[in-house]
Amino acid sequence: DENCEGGEEYLFKIVLIGDSAVGKSNLLSRFARNEFDANSKATIGVEFQTQVVDIDGKEVKAQIWDTAGQERFRAVTSAYYRGAVGALVVYDITRRTTFHSVNRWLQELTSTSIQYQNVGASIYKDENGGLHNGLVRTADPFRGSQYHGKTVLIELALIVTLSQNDSTMARMLVGNKCDLDNIREVSTEEGKSLAEEEGLFFIETSALDCTNVQTAFEIVIREIYNNIS
Ligand code: GDP
Ligand code: MG
Repeated sequence: DENCEGGEEYLFKIVLIGDSAVGKSNLLSRFARNEFDANSKATIGVEFQTQVVDIDGKEVKAQIWDTAGQERFRAVTSAYYRGAVGALVVYDITRRTTFHSVNRWLQELTSTSIQYQNVGASIYKDENGGLHNGLVRTADPFRGSQYHGKTVLIELALIVTLSQNDSTMARMLVGNKCDLDNIREVSTEEGKSLAEEEGLFFIETSALDCTNVQTAFEIVIREIYNNIS
């Protein structure tokens, strides 16, 4: 859509998923605020953090969603996944059970995001009646919009996915807590081969000592950017 090209900003919704206590919230706080909390329990408060990243001179906003601890009850809602164009699927290298859960998280991610791609529309009408398709400006990421006379809620980030008419999502498998190598239960090779099987990027991180945290998010953001440009 020519209306939407040139000088636009991008907003990418990225979700953090994985079992409880694998370090999702600490990865996010390390990335967004360079903070680590040794006593963090359930996530309280904010649903997402927005981080601005420069990709090839373009300002990209990554809106990174963190669960509020619902994953403990397997109660992550579809709203959490809706419109996501990237995901970090996190496990804890010191707890094999969290690695076994990765497939379940991937299934949930795939089924839910595809469901929402079908529900939404790649075309929406703005307040002035202009039809838009494809990349859109990100001033107002969530709003109701008219589509064929029906009011539909369009997330602008969703349109990035829908306009491509496929289910491409940038997904990264993250083995966190690599500082705890002495009590590791999942080898790097196992992580790598699962990622290869499932077509994911793979990285090991430590939110505690900062290893690869920035890199993990940046690879996902760059991949989303590459997918749409
Ligand atoms: P979440 O439930 O997935 O959001 O996990 P949290 O971020 O709340 O972290 C759970 C626990 O693991 C907390 O006690 C953190 O301090 C700890 N933790 C998180 N990341 C790391 C890490 O990279 N290394 C180590 N050693 N501990 C971590
Ligand atoms: Mg958390």
